[in-house]
Amino acid sequence: LPEPFQTATAILREIEQHHHQAFFVGGCVRDFLLKRPIGDIDIATSATPDLIQRIFEKVIPVGIEHGTVVVRYKKESYEVTTFRIDGTYSDSRHPDHVEFIDQLDKDLERRDFTINALAMDKSGAIIDLFASRADLQHKLIRTVGNGFDRFTEDPLRIIRALRFSSELGFQIDKETLFYMKKVKEAINNLAVERITTELGKFFAGKYVNNGITYLKDTEAYKHIPVFTKYPQIISLLPTHLKPLYSLGEVLALLHLLEPTVTVKEWVKEWKCSNQIKQEALQLVEACNHYKSNGINDWLVYQLSPAYYQGFIRLINTLFLKKQVSLQELISRMNNLPITSRTDIVIKGNDLIDLYPHAKRGPWLQQTITSIEKEIVAGNLKNDNYNIKEWIKCNPPEIN
Ligand code: ATP
Ligand code: MG
Repeated sequence: LPEPFQTATAILREIEQHHHQAFFVGGCVRDFLLKRPIGDIDIATSATPDLIQRIFEKVIPVGIEHGTVVVRYKKESYEVTTFRIDGTYSDSRHPDHVEFIDQLDKDLERRDFTINALAMDKSGAIIDLFASRADLQHKLIRTVGNGFDRFTEDPLRIIRALRFSSELGFQIDKETLFYMKKVKEAINNLAVERITTELGKFFAGKYVNNGITYLKDTEAYKHIPVFTKYPQIISLLPTHLKPLYSLGEVLALLHLLEPTVTVKEWVKEWKCSNQIKQEALQLVEACNHYKSNGINDWLVYQLSPAYYQGFIRLINTLFLKKQVSLQELISRMNNLPITSRTDIVIKGNDLIDLYPHAKRGPWLQQTITSIEKEIVAGNLKNDNYNIKEWIKCNPPEIN
């Protein structure tokens, strides 16, 4: 077996030495057979979480009530989950209870799609109970078992089917698609965080346009927060959308397509983190600035370099103008006279010294911002003398 399986094989061996079974399962086996880059390695085992905690030195009990622990080994993390059968999902979040079992086959049966229900042992032998390899070959997403039951049990699987169609470029099996349409209303009951996680991966998919075709065809979006209220947004999506690698980019795009929905509302409805929100807000600002001014020093200065690539993806999606390169942004950034406000040699207190009779107020920040813009534009040198001269010619409006 190639890396990263080679290293992880040691974990399977160790568990087997304790007279238990252990296999690689799920996405890593699928991606291995598809010759795609392997993400996380997930391991399924007949050993209980208790035993795993005793066998390995560093174990983090991330989801121990569902049988999942993370084993740290040679600086890598491996999710190790005990074979289980899921109870009902009455809250549409987690199964109400899980039952640990000692057979692999039942564990594979609870998994969502055939392509995700493969297992592989330490020698690379594949356990394929549902003709999964045939589905991989035919590029088909198909539920394990009856679609109606599986989607009713956990409606997130409807969104996951869309997500995999976007990531893999696969078709959705006819019957599976039929039941996605039939059960889609149940998406309403899901915890939104679960939907958001899947949507992030959906929009980052290499075949996102394939996913969007299914999103439209199934009308599943009508049950996804915000799209429920503004279903027309779906038709505003570009027909040849490029993958957007972060949720911040996605929210920025959605807001720019339909400005009546603010970033704040998307963030609230999709329960995104503050970091995603800040990213989306910065990207929106940069795109709007680009629309009226093109690329200039102020844009590059305002936008965190971490978001440069996202910004490029967005403007390439939104404006079919000449392409902007990352290099261009970085070299502009490197030539900026200052990198942030704190670099300005004059501070608020210096302004107060210049106008000892003025009260503190918004004029302080406004003046600093004007100075900042002049410096970034290259019109003003960042030194005491020049800034004070500039202030004399442009006295602040003290309010
Ligand atoms: P990725 O490469 O994006 O991690 P993945 O297939 O590993 O894809 P995960 O969400 O990490 O997807 O889930 C791991 C495995 O757990 C899946 O391959 C699938 O077998 C099973 N699984 C995950 N979520 C569900 C679900 N809602 N219903 C049934 N099985 C699921
Ligand atoms: Mg995974």
